Amino acid sequence: MKFLLCYILSILIISTASVSADVIAAEHDQICINKIWIENSKGKIACVSSGTAASLIERGWGTMLDNSDNLHVISSMFEIHPEKMKTSSPLPESAMGPQVDYAKGYLVEEIRDGLYWVTDGAYNTMFLTTGQGVIAVDAPPSIGENYLKAISEVTEEPVTHVIYSHSHSDHVGSMNIFPDDAVYISNQKTSDTLSKRNDPNRPVPTITFEDKFTLEVGNQKLELEYNGAVHESGNIFIYAPNQKVLMLVDVIFPGWIPFKDLAMAQDVPEFIAAHDKILEYEFDTFIGGHLTRLGTVEDVEIQKEYFLDIQTSAAKANREISFMSIGQEVGFANPWLVFQIYADSVTQQCANDVVPKWIDRLGGVDLFTYDHCWKVSESQRID
Ligand SMILES: [Zn+2]
Repeated sequence: MKFLLCYILSILIISTASVSADVIAAEHDQICINKIWIENSKGKIACVSSGTAASLIERGWGTMLDNSDNLHVISSMFEIHPEKMKTSSPLPESAMGPQVDYAKGYLVEEIRDGLYWVTDGAYNTMFLTTGQGVIAVDAPPSIGENYLKAISEVTEEPVTHVIYSHSHSDHVGSMNIFPDDAVYISNQKTSDTLSKRNDPNRPVPTITFEDKFTLEVGNQKLELEYNGAVHESGNIFIYAPNQKVLMLVDVIFPGWIPFKDLAMAQDVPEFIAAHDKILEYEFDTFIGGHLTRLGTVEDVEIQKEYFLDIQTSAAKANREISFMSIGQEVGFANPWLVFQIYADSVTQQCANDVVPKWIDRLGGVDLFTYDHCWKVSESQRID
C-alpha cells in the first residue's frame, strides 16, 4: 500500500506539471518529488512544498499547473507502461472528500459521541475518547506523529488502549508512538504475524483474542470481531455500537475501487464474501482505512455491485476464451507463453466489459479494474 501513497503523491505532483514538460526535459534533474509545481503570470515555474504553494497562491504569486498532459510528463519521469497506465480519468463526484490542509498534514473530525476520524487524504483511522483515556485504532506512518497532534487537538486524555486492525505496516507502522504502558490489542493471528515480523514500530500486543472481544473503557464500547481472512489472516471488524460506526481496513474503499488485486487480499472468495458480512452490521458510517472520505452502507452496496460485475464478466471471458485454441495458434513449445496470452486475453475482455459501466461511478476504475479482473478470473479457475 506504500505504492498507493507514492502514486497519489506522484499524481498530485504530476497533475500540476503539464505546461512544464519542456522545463522538466530541459532540467531533467529537477524532478519535483513530494512537492507541487506552480507557475506565475510571467511563466516562472517553481517546485515548492504544499504549504509554500498554498501561501504563494493565496498571495497571488501564481497558480498550480493543470494536468492536461500528465501522461507525457509521467512518462518522462518514471519507467512506466503507458499502455497499462492510461493516466487517470476525471474523478467522479463520489470520490471527493473533505479538503485536507496539506500544510498541516491531517484533518480530524468528530463523527459522533466522542468518536473521531483522522485522515491525511490517503490514509484514515479513528480514535475514541472515553473519559478515562483514549482508545486509538491503528497508526498509519503517513499520518505518524500528526495522529498525536490530532488527538491532543480534541482531548487531554492520554492514549490508554491501542487496537490493531491488522498487521500491515502501512496502517500500523507507527504504533510505537503511543505510551509504552498502553494496552495493545489484536486478533491472535495478527499477534502471531507481528511476533514473526519483530518490528519495533509494531509492538507485539498485550491482549489477544480469537473470535470476539468487547472493549469497555469509561463510557465507551468497541466490539472487535474476527470474521475470517477477508483481507489478511487476523484482520478484524471494529464496531462502535453506540455511534453506529464500523471500521474494516483494506476491504471497502468509499467512492473508489480498491487498490490492485483486491487490495492485496489473501483469499479472493473471502474478500468477495466480506461485502455481505459487512452489511450484517447495523452502521451508518464506515471507515475503510484509505482515501478521501468516510463511507456509508450504500458505498458497501456499490462496491459489492462492482465486484458482481467483475465476477460475471470474468466468468463469461473464462467460458469464451479457449486455452487450447490459443495454444494451437502460437504452439505449445513455450507453455508459459500460451498461459500469458490466455490469462491476458481473459483479463482484458473482462476489463473491457466492466470499465465503461463504472468509469463515471467510482474513482480509479480505469487504473485497477484490469488487476481485479485478473485476480477474480484466476480465482474462478483455481479456488
Ligand atoms: Zn492491509
